[in-house]
Order: sequence, then structure tokens, then C-alpha cells
Amino acid sequence: MEQIKHNPKLMEIIGESVLYFTKNYIEKRKTYLNQDKSGEESREKLLGSVQVYSHYDTDGLSAGSIIAKALDREEIGFQVTILKQLEEQYFDKIRENNREEKFLIFTDFGSGQLNLFNEYLPNGNFIILDHHEIIKTNDGITNVKGFHVNPYLAEVNGSKEVSGAGMAYLFALSLNPKNIDLSYLAIIGATGDIQNSGGFTGENKAILNDAVTNNLIELETVPIMSRSKSLSYSLAYTLPFTIKVFRNDLRNATDFIEKAGIKTTTDLGEYRTLADLSPLEKKKLTSSLVQLALQLGLFDPSEIEKIINENYLLRPYEDYPDIYDAKDFSKMLNACGRLNQSSLGLAVCIIKSKESIVRALELMKKYSESLKSGIEWVQSGNNIVQLDSIMYFYGNDVINENIIGVISSMVIFSENIGKNKPIIGYANSQEGYYKVSARCKKTMIDKGVNLSEAIRNVMRELMPNRKELGGGHSAAAGAKIPVNKMNLFLELLNKKINLQLGGDGKKRFGLDKFV
Ligand code: C5P
Ligand code: C5P
Ligand code: ZN
Repeated sequence: MEQIKHNPKLMEIIGESVLYFTKNYIEKRKTYLNQDKSGEESREKLLGSVQVYSHYDTDGLSAGSIIAKALDREEIGFQVTILKQLEEQYFDKIRENNREEKFLIFTDFGSGQLNLFNEYLPNGNFIILDHHEIIKTNDGITNVKGFHVNPYLAEVNGSKEVSGAGMAYLFALSLNPKNIDLSYLAIIGATGDIQNSGGFTGENKAILNDAVTNNLIELETVPIMSRSKSLSYSLAYTLPFTIKVFRNDLRNATDFIEKAGIKTTTDLGEYRTLADLSPLEKKKLTSSLVQLALQLGLFDPSEIEKIINENYLLRPYEDYPDIYDAKDFSKMLNACGRLNQSSLGLAVCIIKSKESIVRALELMKKYSESLKSGIEWVQSGNNIVQLDSIMYFYGNDVINENIIGVISSMVIFSENIGKNKPIIGYANSQEGYYKVSARCKKTMIDKGVNLSEAIRNVMRELMPNRKELGGGHSAAAGAKIPVNKMNLFLELLNKKINLQLGGDGKKRFGLDKFV
């Protein structure tokens, strides 16, 4: 892999944040420790003296783990608190923790809540390491009294080119170059935020390069087919629907594989699987298949990712095949966070104990089952309501607020539901509120849709005094809406998306069609 440099402008801002941390925490701590009277009392005071707050999804848990491991390396005590979202209700407690001797680090959220930082933490002593779209404060500024780091401040795209875990990793790397050994965690976070679709780009590519050159991640390019069934069977029956040439023809599939120079059985006559192939054999199989698909005109060369996957295999977890692939690991972390077992997720990342991994894998099974029944429920019956420019569904008592976002993502990526509109899922949240999760395809972004901006705009219109506007990224955003404002929210959002698509925003709300 060629050497890829980190973005210099981003690294400059990161470097400044490390200086801020050094000046406002590390140096103060040294003084404490050197004081004569310090002794045990001060040490105790300093124990747990960096308070990390992070988001509960894969990216947030990876980011929190990176900071925890980096602090541990510096022998700095810390505590990690995981939140579903950085809401005003937590800020009294956060302010309490912002005592002089505590330093706060926020990862994977914060840039959407700058007004709350200014209101509750006017004395600084904190760093925000986020990658979400920045929501300016009421005075139109993007700064806070502490230190705010965000890729958009360096003209780096935070929804595609770097994740929250990526930002945490760059901070850690800048703090101590040895933290390059945490690069794989940043790749897990970016995978959780679906930043790898079509391959990693920009800063993520530079981080991936760190992980690959340090033997932490192995790149694997393989056809999208089963890893565990025999090669011939996998080729004949498990390739995506779009390439059917081997369907029901095992002999043809076997010939094809052997012709590519790959043995389908071992010397002992056992069937080989995709997982058994050497990296070179995997490459051979992939390129033969791509060649065939192109020859048959099944694909446009630009659609090649429809039949091949670039996998990121996590060397530190190679003894655990269920989470060896970053995609599976990411799913496992999401399961921990979204089934209210964040500390288990942190334990898998930070301690890597067998016991924690076994428990997390059990949770992953449960999580997969609830996603499966959730998506089946949405797709069955008339659960999706179509408006002119958006479609929406209500999770009712089937889909809860923790997985509404994941189900919305699954809907938008499923083949059989309209792809040309954003989807809005909403679920019961705390008393009197719905949690809303909006998602759309990249093609919609290219046409001008920005869900984060649309949601914020509508929220401002709907509730001018509200401090928490919601937001996120252009393709994935969320908010909390009072139950009695939900219909109006959908109506206004429908209009707003229509405007973003170049319409006049005047189409009538309520022309409900069902799919
Ligand atoms: O808060 P954070 O940025 O970590 O979360 C982004 C969320 O948006 C993730 O849950 C991710 O799965 C989702 N996402 C998506 N489609 C995209 C990008 C992100 O569903 N294109
Ligand atoms: O919660 P959900 O998965 O739908 O969130 C999609 C994206 O929007 C995430 O990146 C999340 O952090 C962000 N979001 C936000 N403010 C909210 C809700 C979600 O910034 N109130
Ligand atoms: Zn994130």
C-alpha cells in the first residue's frame, strides 16, 4: 500500500487541541503531582480525572475506547460515560464534572450542541472531537470556550472522509505516536457510520494505511458470496442476484474456479471455502469473476462493488471469526450500545477479554433477531406512508427508539422500497416525544438533499425557542419531536426536501399512497 499522508490542515487543528489539552490538563496535573502536600490525597483527586463522553453507536464506542486507551498509555486516570445523545438534560451533571481538576473530552457528538456548551461550560477545560455537521451558536459562531475540533473546520467531509473514532484516533496519534496501534479502532468506527461504501476515501484512507502498514488490518478483496460453504456451492448459489451464470450448475462453477487456478478441494478431498483461500487465490477468484461479469455485460465497470467486497480483517481479533471482519465487529458494537450494554462494548475494545467477547456475541444474535423482525414488519403490510418528497413509518410497539435509525438505514438500502425519497422512521421515546431517524441514498445527496439541514430548519420553524435542534449528516440525521408536533414536522419536512430538490415546496401534504 502506498504511503498516504494525513490531511495537514486537519492535523494542524488536532495538534492545537493536543496543545490545549497539555496546557490545561497535563501540565496542571504535573504541578499537582509535584506539590509536596500532594501525596495520596491529590493522586486520589486526580484518579478518574479525565471524563470522556461519547455516543452509544459503533462509532461513539470506538471513539471512547480510543481515548481511554490513549489516556491509559499516559497513565492518566479516566472515566467513560456513554450517552444516547448529547442532550440538555445531561448538562447539569456535565457541568458538575467540569470542576477545575477534571478535564472533559467529548467524542462523536458536540458540534451540534455548541450553544449548550457556551451556556453550561463557559469556563472551557474541555475538548470536542466530533465529525457531525456544525450547528452554529445563536451568535453564528463555531467556537466554544474549550477546544472544538471538527473536520469541516479543515474542509474535510465529516460524513464520508472521517468518523468520530477517526477524529479521536488523530488526537491520540498526535498525543503519542505509539497510538498508531489504535488505528484499527478508527476503521471500526468509520465502518459503523457506513463511511466505507464504495471504499474509504480521504482521511479514512490515511488511517487505513496506518492500520495496514502496522499489521493491524488485513485487506481482503473477495466476491460477495458465502465464506463458509464450499466454493462451488457458494459461487452457484450465494452470489448476489445480479450474477446468475452459475445458478444451479455446480459443475460449471467448479470448472470456472479450477480454471482460475484454484483447487476446490484439499488433498484429502475436503471441500475448500472462501475463508480457506490464500490472499493470492482470493485475488485470482475475484478478478476472474469480475472479468466474466464484464464480458457478459452484466455490469457497468463503475458498479463493480455490487459483486465484490473489500473487507477489513482485524488482526487483534483473529481468534474470533465472528468479529474478525470489521463489518461484523461493527455490528457487535452497535448491538452492545443499542441494547443498553455500552460498557460491554467498551470492554471488548479496551480489554479484549474472552468473556466480554462471548457475551457480546450473544447480544449480537439478539440484536440481529430484533432487526430482522423490525425490517420484516416495516416491509410487510402498509407500514410505509408515501408523501411527495419523503416517505415515513412509525415504529409503534415493534421498533424502539434505539434501533429506529438502523431500521431506517436498512429500508433505504433495501432493493424493493423506493430509492428516490428519503425515509423518516420514528419511534416512541421519553414521555411525550418521538425519536426521529432520517436516511437517504447518496443519489439524493447528489440532487441537493441535506437531511441534517432540513431537520434543523424545520425544527427552528416548528419550535423557535428549542435549544436541541437535532441534525447529523446530510445522509443520516435525527431529532426528538414532541408527539403533538409530529404531523406538522412531517408536513414541513416534506416541503423542505421538495425545496432542496429544486421544487417550489408547494406540493400538497397528505396525498398518501401506500406501498
Ligand atoms: O452519530 P454518528 O455519526 O456516529 O452516526 C451516523 C449514523 O448514521 C450511523 O448509525 C450510521 O449507520 C448512519 N448512516 C447511514 N447512512 C449513511 C451514513 C450514516 O445510515 N450514508
Ligand atoms: O439517531 P440516528 O441514528 O438517526 O442519528 C443519525 C445521525 O444524526 C447520527 O450521526 C446522530 O449522531 C445525529 N443526530 C444528532 N442529533 C440528534 C439525533 C441524531 O446529531 N438529536
Ligand atoms: Zn459518528
